[in-house]
Amino acid sequence: MSTPASDAFPQRNTPNLSAKKHGENASLVDGFGRHVNYVRFSVTDRCDFRCVYCMSEQMTFLPRARILTLEELAALGRALVELGVRKIRLTGGEPLVRQNVLWLFRELGRLHECGLKELVLTTNGSQLGRLSAELKAAGVARLNISLDSLNPERFRRITRVGELKTVLRGIQAAQAAGFQRLKLNAVILKGRNHDEVTDLARFAIENGLDISYIEEMPLGIIGDHDRAEAYYSSDAIRADLAHAFTLIPTTETTGGPSRYYRIPGSETRIGFISPHSHNFCGDCNRVRVSAEGRLLLCLGQEHSVDLRHVLRAHPGNRERLKQAIAAAMAIKPHGHDFQLGSQPVILRHMSHTGG
Ligand code: SAM
Ligand code: SF4
Repeated sequence: MSTPASDAFPQRNTPNLSAKKHGENASLVDGFGRHVNYVRFSVTDRCDFRCVYCMSEQMTFLPRARILTLEELAALGRALVELGVRKIRLTGGEPLVRQNVLWLFRELGRLHECGLKELVLTTNGSQLGRLSAELKAAGVARLNISLDSLNPERFRRITRVGELKTVLRGIQAAQAAGFQRLKLNAVILKGRNHDEVTDLARFAIENGLDISYIEEMPLGIIGDHDRAEAYYSSDAIRADLAHAFTLIPTTETTGGPSRYYRIPGSETRIGFISPHSHNFCGDCNRVRVSAEGRLLLCLGQEHSVDLRHVLRAHPGNRERLKQAIAAAMAIKPHGHDFQLGSQPVILRHMSHTGG
């Protein structure tokens, strides 16, 4: 296990270091009493886009031997569900560019019989035209689709290589396949797309979608812009939206970090993911597995356990894997301490981490 010496562990409750039994059900509880029931897998660090806030233009990707195999990911999913995890999100990188990834969706979809409640996906939408129906059939419940601009040229500048029309067709294909309540994710950067927040909300309303606006997080060196200069707060976005819509705060949750508002007369939920302005760590219920199989206990800290080592040193030994995961709860830190300086403290990119 790696635990950076720099991290303080404020207000730790009675140590609750491992999987506890609650009646019949196991559960993962960290040292601060938070129940971990949601895991995000980065199934690949690769992507067909190069978004300016996520990657640098020239990325070096991991060699295949260093990333978890699909079988290892499936085994990990089963172990996690047996430990009480109820929601698994596949993300990346772009999960849908990984070869044979549908096999993994189908395997994880079978875990609904063992207690999994939601299998969900975050995607850039580029492959939804060809894969939506099969994802639905595999048991995927909901999709988050990234969309930062409705202007094709601007979309290209932000993603460096992406085509807006492919993503818009992907959204239509997902709706045609029967996905309900699709959610758009929009990272808002001052001077790049902050003037589009109202248009994006209108697009969501007109198409029966939810939307979450995300403050950029300082993960990895991107070599594109100064993150402090590009910072556009959730409060500023909300103020912009208030010129066009009435926003009613709600206590609704989709089990993630978004805080939601409703617009009267519309089904659309407007969410805000605000790591800088409204830290969401207090009720964190999540951990991540990086493409290399590192169990990351916090998005913004380096506390982690090498599950790839456990999987490869003890093939087929699920109890050993479960022990390693349960023991890792002891090092889940209280929260991130993102700073908006020009150099990120966390050098791993979001694509590697599993955003
Ligand atoms: N490729 C897929 C996509 O773009 O939806 C899934 C992976 S992507 C890393 C997951 C989410 O993280 C996307 O909504 C993306 O916009 C967001 N993201 C990436 N880098 C980010 C950063 N530095 N700060 C905030 N959000 C970021
Ligand atoms: Fe790829 Fe998603 Fe990162 Fe954009 S945000 S580069 S689509 S992984």
